[in-house]
Amino acid sequence: MNTLSIIIPCYNEEDVLRLTYEQLSKVCQSLQREYEILFVDDGSSDQTYPIIQALSQKDKHIGGISLTRNFGKEGVILAGLEAAKGDLIAVMDADLQDPPELLTEMIRLIEEDGYDQVGTYRKSRSSQTFLTRFFSEAYYRSFNLLSDRPIPLNEREYRMMKRSVVETILKMDERNRYIKGLWTWIGFKTTHIGYDDIERAGGKTKYNIKNKFKLAFRNIISANVKPLSIVHKLTWLFIAVFWTYALYHGTYLLTNGVVSSSWSLPVFLILLIAKFQFIVFSLFAFYLSAIYLESKQRPNYLVKEQFESTLNNEGQKS
Ligand code: UDP
Ligand code: MG
Repeated sequence: MNTLSIIIPCYNEEDVLRLTYEQLSKVCQSLQREYEILFVDDGSSDQTYPIIQALSQKDKHIGGISLTRNFGKEGVILAGLEAAKGDLIAVMDADLQDPPELLTEMIRLIEEDGYDQVGTYRKSRSSQTFLTRFFSEAYYRSFNLLSDRPIPLNEREYRMMKRSVVETILKMDERNRYIKGLWTWIGFKTTHIGYDDIERAGGKTKYNIKNKFKLAFRNIISANVKPLSIVHKLTWLFIAVFWTYALYHGTYLLTNGVVSSSWSLPVFLILLIAKFQFIVFSLFAFYLSAIYLESKQRPNYLVKEQFESTLNNEGQKS
Protein backbone atom coordinates (compact mmCIF):
# COMPACT_ATOMS: atom_id res chain seq x y z
CA MET A 1 0.00 0.00 0.00
CA ASN A 2 1.41 3.42 -0.96
CA THR A 3 2.23 5.66 1.96
CA LEU A 4 1.17 9.30 1.88
CA SER A 5 2.82 12.61 2.85
CA ILE A 6 0.79 15.79 3.00
CA ILE A 7 2.77 19.02 3.00
CA ILE A 8 1.04 22.03 4.56
CA PRO A 9 2.66 25.46 4.05
CA CYS A 10 1.85 27.64 7.07
CA TYR A 11 2.37 31.34 7.52
CA ASN A 12 0.70 32.85 10.59
CA GLU A 13 -2.05 30.26 10.62
CA GLU A 14 -2.64 29.98 14.41
CA ASP A 15 -6.39 30.60 13.96
CA VAL A 16 -7.00 27.62 11.75
CA LEU A 17 -4.22 25.09 12.25
CA ARG A 18 -5.89 22.86 14.87
CA LEU A 19 -9.11 22.69 12.87
CA THR A 20 -7.19 21.82 9.70
CA TYR A 21 -5.29 19.14 11.59
CA GLU A 22 -8.51 17.59 12.91
CA GLN A 23 -10.33 17.55 9.57
CA LEU A 24 -7.30 16.34 7.64
CA SER A 25 -6.52 13.60 10.19
CA LYS A 26 -10.07 12.26 9.88
CA VAL A 27 -9.68 11.93 6.12
CA CYS A 28 -6.19 10.44 6.47
CA GLN A 29 -7.41 7.78 8.89
CA SER A 30 -10.14 6.79 6.45
CA LEU A 31 -7.52 6.19 3.75
CA GLN A 32 -6.25 3.12 5.62
CA ARG A 33 -2.58 3.55 4.94
CA GLU A 34 0.48 4.98 6.65
CA TYR A 35 0.66 8.75 6.34
CA GLU A 36 2.40 11.85 7.62
CA ILE A 37 1.28 15.45 7.83
CA LEU A 38 4.25 17.71 7.29
CA PHE A 39 3.66 21.25 8.50
CA VAL A 40 6.19 23.72 7.10
CA ASP A 41 6.23 26.98 9.02
CA ASP A 42 7.29 29.83 6.76
CA GLY A 43 8.74 32.10 9.46
CA SER A 44 5.45 32.82 11.23
CA SER A 45 5.43 35.45 13.96
CA ASP A 46 2.40 34.00 15.75
CA GLN A 47 1.87 30.69 17.58
CA THR A 48 1.94 28.56 14.39
CA TYR A 49 5.13 26.62 15.17
CA PRO A 50 4.39 26.04 18.89
CA ILE A 51 0.99 24.65 17.80
CA ILE A 52 2.71 22.30 15.32
CA GLN A 53 5.05 21.13 18.10
CA ALA A 54 2.15 20.61 20.49
CA LEU A 55 0.20 18.59 17.92
CA SER A 56 3.24 16.40 17.28
CA GLN A 57 3.42 15.54 20.99
CA LYS A 58 0.16 13.64 20.74
CA ASP A 59 0.32 12.47 17.14
CA LYS A 60 3.39 10.82 15.65
CA HIS A 61 2.02 11.26 12.15
CA ILE A 62 3.15 14.86 12.33
CA GLY A 63 6.42 16.23 11.06
CA GLY A 64 7.44 19.87 11.33
CA ILE A 65 9.87 22.24 9.67
CA SER A 66 10.48 25.78 10.82
CA LEU A 67 12.17 28.10 8.31
CA THR A 68 14.50 30.85 9.50
CA ARG A 69 12.26 33.58 8.04
CA ASN A 70 9.38 34.05 5.60
CA PHE A 71 10.60 32.67 2.25
CA GLY A 72 7.25 32.60 0.44
CA LYS A 73 5.32 29.69 -0.94
CA GLU A 74 7.91 28.47 -3.45
CA GLY A 75 10.49 27.98 -0.69
CA VAL A 76 8.03 26.34 1.70
CA ILE A 77 6.77 23.86 -0.88
CA LEU A 78 10.32 22.97 -1.88
CA ALA A 79 11.28 22.42 1.78
CA GLY A 80 8.27 20.11 2.13
CA LEU A 81 9.00 18.17 -1.07
CA GLU A 82 12.58 17.59 0.05
CA ALA A 83 11.55 16.30 3.47
CA ALA A 84 8.45 14.25 2.54
CA LYS A 85 8.90 10.50 2.94
CA GLY A 86 5.71 9.07 1.39
CA ASP A 87 5.24 7.20 -1.89
CA LEU A 88 2.51 9.70 -2.75
CA ILE A 89 3.04 13.34 -1.85
CA ALA A 90 0.34 16.00 -1.62
CA VAL A 91 0.55 19.76 -1.12
CA MET A 92 -2.40 21.47 0.60
CA ASP A 93 -3.06 24.97 2.01
CA ALA A 94 -3.41 25.36 5.76
CA ASP A 95 -6.73 27.20 5.70
CA LEU A 96 -9.10 24.42 4.51
CA GLN A 97 -9.68 26.18 1.20
CA ASP A 98 -8.38 22.92 -0.28
CA PRO A 99 -10.95 20.29 0.78
CA PRO A 100 -9.13 17.32 2.41
CA GLU A 101 -11.88 14.93 1.20
CA LEU A 102 -10.49 15.27 -2.35
CA LEU A 103 -7.44 13.25 -1.27
CA THR A 104 -9.49 10.05 -1.64
CA GLU A 105 -10.28 10.80 -5.29
CA MET A 106 -6.69 11.89 -5.96
CA ILE A 107 -5.38 8.58 -4.64
CA ARG A 108 -7.92 6.68 -6.74
CA LEU A 109 -6.88 8.54 -9.88
CA ILE A 110 -3.22 7.69 -9.25
CA GLU A 111 -3.59 4.12 -8.03
CA GLU A 112 -6.45 2.90 -10.21
CA ASP A 113 -6.39 5.13 -13.28
CA GLY A 114 -2.61 5.30 -13.53
CA TYR A 115 -2.07 9.06 -13.32
CA ASP A 116 1.31 10.33 -12.08
CA GLN A 117 0.03 13.62 -10.74
CA VAL A 118 -3.39 15.03 -9.95
CA GLY A 119 -3.72 18.80 -9.81
CA THR A 120 -6.73 20.95 -8.95
CA TYR A 121 -8.34 24.17 -10.14
CA ARG A 122 -11.03 26.46 -8.76
CA LYS A 123 -14.33 26.39 -10.56
CA SER A 124 -15.24 29.80 -9.12
CA ARG A 125 -13.66 32.63 -7.15
CA SER A 126 -16.54 33.56 -4.88
CA SER A 127 -14.31 34.07 -1.81
CA GLN A 128 -12.40 36.85 -3.57
CA THR A 129 -13.15 40.51 -4.18
CA PHE A 130 -13.99 41.62 -7.72
CA LEU A 131 -10.54 43.19 -8.21
CA THR A 132 -8.62 40.13 -6.98
CA ARG A 133 -10.76 37.91 -9.17
CA PHE A 134 -10.23 40.15 -12.19
CA PHE A 135 -6.46 40.37 -11.79
CA SER A 136 -6.07 36.67 -10.98
CA GLU A 137 -7.91 35.64 -14.13
CA ALA A 138 -5.93 38.18 -16.15
CA TYR A 139 -2.74 36.76 -14.66
CA TYR A 140 -3.42 33.21 -15.85
CA ARG A 141 -4.30 34.44 -19.31
CA SER A 142 -1.17 36.63 -19.55
CA PHE A 143 1.04 33.84 -18.22
CA ASN A 144 -0.26 31.45 -20.84
CA LEU A 145 0.10 34.02 -23.58
CA LEU A 146 3.74 34.56 -22.64
CA SER A 147 4.68 31.00 -21.84
CA ASP A 148 5.50 28.01 -24.04
CA ARG A 149 3.79 25.59 -21.71
CA PRO A 150 0.40 26.82 -20.52
CA ILE A 151 -0.84 26.18 -16.98
CA PRO A 152 -4.49 25.28 -16.42
CA LEU A 153 -6.68 28.32 -15.76
CA ASN A 154 -7.25 28.95 -12.02
CA GLU A 155 -4.94 26.09 -11.05
CA ARG A 156 -4.35 25.66 -7.32
CA GLU A 157 -1.25 24.37 -5.60
CA TYR A 158 -3.38 21.62 -4.06
CA ARG A 159 -1.96 18.53 -5.73
CA MET A 160 -0.92 14.92 -5.33
CA MET A 161 2.16 13.46 -6.99
CA LYS A 162 3.90 10.13 -7.21
CA ARG A 163 7.38 10.05 -5.70
CA SER A 164 8.89 9.82 -9.22
CA VAL A 165 7.27 13.19 -10.05
CA VAL A 166 8.61 14.79 -6.88
CA GLU A 167 12.09 13.46 -7.55
CA THR A 168 11.98 14.92 -11.04
CA ILE A 169 10.90 18.30 -9.62
CA LEU A 170 13.75 18.15 -7.11
CA LYS A 171 16.27 17.61 -9.91
CA MET A 172 15.39 21.06 -11.29
CA ASP A 173 18.16 22.94 -9.58
CA GLU A 174 16.98 26.42 -10.52
CA ARG A 175 16.59 29.23 -8.00
CA ASN A 176 13.81 31.26 -9.63
CA ARG A 177 11.25 28.58 -9.16
CA TYR A 178 7.64 28.64 -10.16
CA ILE A 179 6.13 25.35 -9.10
CA LYS A 180 3.04 25.54 -11.30
CA GLY A 181 5.27 26.15 -14.30
CA LEU A 182 7.46 23.18 -13.34
CA TRP A 183 4.47 20.89 -12.87
CA THR A 184 3.38 21.45 -16.42
CA TRP A 185 6.90 21.56 -17.85
CA ILE A 186 7.95 18.13 -16.56
CA GLY A 187 5.06 16.36 -18.31
CA PHE A 188 3.98 12.96 -16.84
CA LYS A 189 0.43 11.67 -17.02
CA THR A 190 -1.54 14.46 -15.37
CA THR A 191 -5.17 15.20 -14.67
CA HIS A 192 -7.04 17.91 -12.74
CA ILE A 193 -10.02 17.98 -10.41
CA GLY A 194 -12.14 21.14 -10.21
CA TYR A 195 -13.86 22.29 -7.03
CA ASP A 196 -15.95 25.24 -5.93
CA ASP A 197 -14.26 28.03 -4.09
CA ILE A 198 -14.46 27.79 -0.30
CA GLU A 199 -13.95 30.60 2.22
CA ARG A 200 -10.96 30.39 4.55
CA ALA A 201 -11.83 28.45 7.72
CA GLY A 202 -10.18 31.18 9.84
CA GLY A 203 -7.50 33.88 9.82
CA LYS A 204 -6.81 36.17 6.89
CA THR A 205 -5.29 35.77 3.43
CA LYS A 206 -1.55 36.43 3.32
CA TYR A 207 -1.80 38.12 -0.06
CA ASN A 208 -3.25 41.43 -1.23
CA ILE A 209 -3.55 42.76 -4.76
CA LYS A 210 -0.15 44.42 -4.48
CA ASN A 211 1.80 41.29 -3.55
CA LYS A 212 -0.21 39.19 -5.97
CA PHE A 213 0.89 41.61 -8.70
CA LYS A 214 4.46 41.33 -7.55
CA LEU A 215 4.34 37.54 -7.58
CA ALA A 216 2.66 37.49 -10.99
CA PHE A 217 5.41 39.62 -12.49
CA ARG A 218 8.10 37.53 -10.84
CA ASN A 219 6.57 34.35 -12.14
CA ILE A 220 6.44 35.56 -15.71
CA ILE A 221 9.82 37.26 -15.83
CA SER A 222 11.21 35.33 -12.85
CA ALA A 223 13.02 37.85 -10.63
CA ASN A 224 13.06 41.19 -8.91
CA VAL A 225 16.22 43.03 -7.88
CA LYS A 226 15.91 46.46 -6.27
CA PRO A 227 18.60 48.51 -8.13
CA LEU A 228 17.44 47.21 -11.48
CA SER A 229 13.83 47.82 -10.61
CA ILE A 230 14.59 51.57 -10.56
CA VAL A 231 14.44 51.34 -14.34
CA HIS A 232 11.04 49.82 -13.95
CA LYS A 233 9.93 52.68 -11.69
CA LEU A 234 11.17 55.21 -14.24
CA THR A 235 8.98 53.47 -16.79
CA TRP A 236 5.94 54.28 -14.67
CA LEU A 237 7.13 57.87 -14.38
CA PHE A 238 7.35 58.21 -18.17
CA ILE A 239 4.00 56.54 -18.61
CA ALA A 240 2.49 59.01 -16.11
CA VAL A 241 4.09 62.06 -17.76
CA PHE A 242 2.98 60.88 -21.19
CA TRP A 243 -0.61 60.35 -20.11
CA THR A 244 -0.80 63.62 -18.20
CA TYR A 245 0.36 65.45 -21.30
CA ALA A 246 -1.90 63.49 -23.63
CA LEU A 247 -4.98 63.77 -21.39
CA TYR A 248 -4.49 67.46 -20.67
CA HIS A 249 -4.26 68.38 -24.35
CA GLY A 250 -6.96 65.92 -25.36
CA THR A 251 -9.40 67.39 -22.84
CA TYR A 252 -8.45 70.93 -23.87
CA LEU A 253 -9.18 70.10 -27.49
CA LEU A 254 -12.51 68.46 -26.65
CA THR A 255 -13.75 71.28 -24.42
CA ASN A 256 -12.48 74.27 -26.43
CA GLY A 257 -12.64 72.88 -29.97
CA VAL A 258 -9.06 74.08 -30.66
CA VAL A 259 -5.64 72.79 -29.66
CA SER A 260 -3.97 74.46 -26.69
CA SER A 261 -1.17 76.93 -27.49
CA SER A 262 1.21 74.77 -25.43
CA TRP A 263 0.52 71.69 -27.54
CA SER A 264 3.55 70.36 -29.36
CA LEU A 265 3.61 67.29 -31.59
CA PRO A 266 7.40 66.75 -31.17
CA VAL A 267 7.05 66.78 -27.36
CA PHE A 268 4.19 64.30 -27.63
CA LEU A 269 6.24 62.00 -29.86
CA ILE A 270 9.32 62.22 -27.62
CA LEU A 271 7.24 61.27 -24.59
CA LEU A 272 5.64 58.43 -26.50
CA ILE A 273 9.00 57.03 -27.66
CA ALA A 274 10.54 57.46 -24.19
CA LYS A 275 7.63 55.54 -22.73
CA PHE A 276 8.17 52.59 -25.06
CA GLN A 277 11.94 52.69 -24.58
CA PHE A 278 11.58 52.50 -20.83
CA ILE A 279 9.18 49.58 -21.10
CA VAL A 280 11.84 47.73 -23.11
CA PHE A 281 14.63 48.73 -20.66
CA SER A 282 12.51 47.59 -17.80
CA LEU A 283 12.01 44.20 -19.42
CA PHE A 284 15.79 43.87 -19.93
CA ALA A 285 16.33 44.81 -16.31
CA PHE A 286 14.02 42.06 -15.10
CA TYR A 287 15.73 39.43 -17.20
CA LEU A 288 19.12 40.68 -16.06
CA SER A 289 18.07 40.50 -12.43
CA ALA A 290 16.80 36.94 -12.96
CA ILE A 291 20.21 35.92 -14.32
CA TYR A 292 21.95 37.75 -11.48
CA LEU A 293 19.92 35.98 -8.80
CA GLU A 294 20.31 32.61 -10.49
CA SER A 295 24.08 33.00 -10.64
CA LYS A 296 24.25 33.46 -6.87
CA GLN A 297 22.80 29.97 -6.33
CA ARG A 298 21.40 30.89 -2.94
CA PRO A 299 19.04 28.30 -1.45
CA ASN A 300 15.29 28.89 -1.72
CA TYR A 301 14.81 28.35 1.99
CA LEU A 302 16.78 27.81 5.21
CA VAL A 303 15.70 25.50 8.00
CA LYS A 304 15.91 26.66 11.61
CA GLU A 305 14.45 23.55 13.20
CA GLN A 306 12.98 20.29 11.95
CA PHE A 307 11.49 17.09 13.34
CA GLU A 308 10.28 14.00 11.54
CA SER A 309 7.07 12.05 11.69
CA THR A 310 7.46 8.33 12.30
CA LEU A 311 6.45 7.41 8.75
CA ASN A 312 8.86 4.82 7.34
CA ASN A 313 10.81 4.68 10.60
CA GLU A 314 10.94 0.92 11.10
CA GLY A 315 9.38 -0.29 14.35
CA GLN A 316 8.19 3.13 15.51
CA LYS A 317 5.01 3.51 13.56
CA SER A 318 2.08 4.66 15.63
N1 UDP B 1 1.71 30.85 2.86
C1 UDP B 1 3.04 30.60 3.15
N2 UDP B 1 3.94 31.61 3.02
C2 UDP B 1 3.58 32.86 2.61
C3 UDP B 1 2.21 33.09 2.28
C4 UDP B 1 1.31 32.08 2.42
O1 UDP B 1 3.39 29.48 3.55
O2 UDP B 1 4.45 33.73 2.52
C5 UDP B 1 0.73 29.75 3.00
C6 UDP B 1 -0.48 30.07 3.85
O3 UDP B 1 -0.26 29.82 5.22
C7 UDP B 1 -1.54 29.14 3.25
C8 UDP B 1 -1.15 29.12 1.78
O4 UDP B 1 0.22 29.49 1.71
O5 UDP B 1 -1.43 27.83 3.77
C9 UDP B 1 -2.01 30.03 0.94
O6 UDP B 1 -2.03 31.32 1.50
P1 UDP B 1 -3.38 32.16 1.59
O7 UDP B 1 -4.51 31.29 2.04
O8 UDP B 1 -3.10 33.36 2.43
O9 UDP B 1 -3.57 32.58 0.07
P2 UDP B 1 -4.94 32.71 -0.75
O10 UDP B 1 -5.66 31.38 -0.57
O11 UDP B 1 -5.70 33.83 -0.12
O12 UDP B 1 -4.50 32.95 -2.15
MG1 MG C 1 -6.19 30.55 1.24
